Amino acid sequence: MERRAITVTGIVQGVGFRPFVFGLATRLRLAGFARNDGGHVIIEVEGGGEALDQFTSALNRDAPGLARIDAISSQSLPVAGTCGFRIEKSAAAHAKDVFISPDVATCADCLRELFDPADRRYRYPFINCTNCGPRLTIVTGAPYDRERTTMASFTMCDACRAEYENPADRRFHAQPIACRRCGPQLRLLNEDGQLLGADDSLRDFASAIVQGQIGALKGLGGFHLVCDATNENAVRRLRARKHREEKPFAVMFRDVAAARAHCALSESEEQLLRSPVAPIVLLHKTSDISNSIAPGNQHLGAMLPYTPLHHLLIEAAEQRPLIMTSGNRSDEPIARDNGEALEQLRGIADVFLLHDRPINVRCDDSVTRIVAGRELPIRRSRGYAPQPVQLPFASPAPILAVGGQLKGTFAFARRQHTFLSHHLGDLDHHQAFVAFERDIALYRELFQIEPACVAHDLHPDYASTRFAESTGLPLIAAQHHHAHMTSCMAENGLTEPTIGVTFDGLGHGTDGTVWGGEFLIGDYAGFTRAAHLRCVGMPGGDQATREPWRMAVAHLRDADAECRSFNSRVPAHDIRLVRQMLERSFNTPMTSSAGRLFDAVASLAGVRDRVSYEGQAAMELEWLATGVDDAGAYPFALEADGTVDTRPMIKAVVSDIDRDVDNRIIARRFHSTVVEIIASVCGRIRQDTGIKSAVLSGGVFMNALLTTEVLTRLAADGFRVYRHRLVPPNDAGLSLGQAAIAAARLCLVA
Ligand code: ZN
Ligand code: ZN
Ligand code: FE
Repeated sequence: MERRAITVTGIVQGVGFRPFVFGLATRLRLAGFARNDGGHVIIEVEGGGEALDQFTSALNRDAPGLARIDAISSQSLPVAGTCGFRIEKSAAAHAKDVFISPDVATCADCLRELFDPADRRYRYPFINCTNCGPRLTIVTGAPYDRERTTMASFTMCDACRAEYENPADRRFHAQPIACRRCGPQLRLLNEDGQLLGADDSLRDFASAIVQGQIGALKGLGGFHLVCDATNENAVRRLRARKHREEKPFAVMFRDVAAARAHCALSESEEQLLRSPVAPIVLLHKTSDISNSIAPGNQHLGAMLPYTPLHHLLIEAAEQRPLIMTSGNRSDEPIARDNGEALEQLRGIADVFLLHDRPINVRCDDSVTRIVAGRELPIRRSRGYAPQPVQLPFASPAPILAVGGQLKGTFAFARRQHTFLSHHLGDLDHHQAFVAFERDIALYRELFQIEPACVAHDLHPDYASTRFAESTGLPLIAAQHHHAHMTSCMAENGLTEPTIGVTFDGLGHGTDGTVWGGEFLIGDYAGFTRAAHLRCVGMPGGDQATREPWRMAVAHLRDADAECRSFNSRVPAHDIRLVRQMLERSFNTPMTSSAGRLFDAVASLAGVRDRVSYEGQAAMELEWLATGVDDAGAYPFALEADGTVDTRPMIKAVVSDIDRDVDNRIIARRFHSTVVEIIASVCGRIRQDTGIKSAVLSGGVFMNALLTTEVLTRLAADGFRVYRHRLVPPNDAGLSLGQAAIAAARLCLVA
């Protein structure tokens, strides 16, 4: 006989870990107990040595799918002669290592029960268990317990309580446990917010959708606007009412087979779709369900039902694919509570399907895609957050990193773990900023982290920077592109000095100009700007981002070139005005932005002069070039001081345009030129410094064609090249990079 104390660390709470331990111990006839203790599970087991060894190795090997074990430590104790195995009440959280699970899509067991007429939760839209259901979205405090979720106001019925208290049950301590008798209920309201006295709200809502109406559906992390994706009129009406001109809508398909009817699906894309995260996956469109879903777009954002309510809804809506787009007006944050939805979505939705389980944390659908065989996240939110990303070294003190301005996220770092928040949207919006402040406070409580300092962007006017200043804590400023670079280094576990190829829209540079086409070298603690794209004016500042033709004028003037077809398309008066702004440097910041260079070329090539959403012109230029054979690159010059002179390229682009070269060829040559620029600059840096590894970061690397080609090219040139797989290359990844930078600076001081 022996007795051992075993501590298991990782994501082991709210994921069915203790019932698993109970089952395992009982099967091996071991006595003892298990309990949650802060972020660990503490187990004491007593029995024969062989059974104990089996127990320990099975802990890791057979752990439930959602658990993520970071460490198991074991130590022997004197035998106590305990009988039986029991689960003890959690110790109060003095939590040093608390983890909170992300929300999880409905599991196969729950799905089976949902459609089993003999089950007591047959067709109950809020069925869940320890392996699935809401988590982050319903948490209101720590430790994770029923009283500190939005389920607190629902009193369990006897049947639910029996399951909740039975260590052998799949619902043992499933905090959101509920059934039709004791749990949340649906309600159907009309467009004026009046209750429709229906027996079956879900069926009535579904038939409204089938008849072509627009519905507002309270989902897991916020409201969705829903309509029949096969009904062109309904989709068009939704666009008009939501004031969303062209930005694509996501579609929820009943299953993989239904998605396959409209999209091409690789094995890894199918895996992503089916995963417990259930993100929106960008797939290649093979048919047009409805033209207005993603106008002019080669891709379709597809997802599968991830809550019981979705499964029931699609079934009731005759299995039709449904548009599921965030329930908001244009770019505001998505509506979270019932009152907010009725107010914000009035005039958009014809019917509202609500329920009475409050959403505490607003969590948008995550968006991802497969690029060069691996996941490239675009928005990391529901299903991913707040899972930590590991730093390659431990932070000497806890850190809060507040991210950027657009695609806001924040991060808390404690030792090696960086807890990355859900997506908070554009912090210009008051509502988004309110949620940002509130959710920072919530995470701080959930993870029991008292930050010793706050890391922020160099930009003085970002709302996140002003928030950092308001905390009164010591501040660490991180340059925008350095944070992009280090976010990619951190998720890839790099510690040696690296080349950071960081191409994005705009970020505040250390010299007061706007950066965005940067080659940095350095590590977490610091960097130097080794090379960058040539600076041009950005006439009208932000307006130049919305109107790519302005960047075309700036680059034409810079290269001293005239483009006949551009001049014949864009009104001469507009061109003259913008040229004057450039000449007088009026409201015209200087920028080395790669994103704006893409815009300029997209406009010159006649792809798009104005965008209705961020990155649209560059994306369309990418689609144009995709699948076109390599047609060589345009010329450019690399100057001794590290400036990449883009003027020869602009001249060559213009000459192609005025010779009526197919714009697919122009788009292709432009992409090849960017690949050449990156290869030659990296080559020179390696010559000068001996650094042989490079990371690709910044929003421009959401471009699949560019990312794939740069990876291939740099690898062929003998570089070790790294890209994003865990966090988006865009500004959503900044908080991770800032946390890593702050941690490294604290190490220097310590
Ligand atoms: Zn389940
Ligand atoms: Zn119940
Ligand atoms: Fe950026």
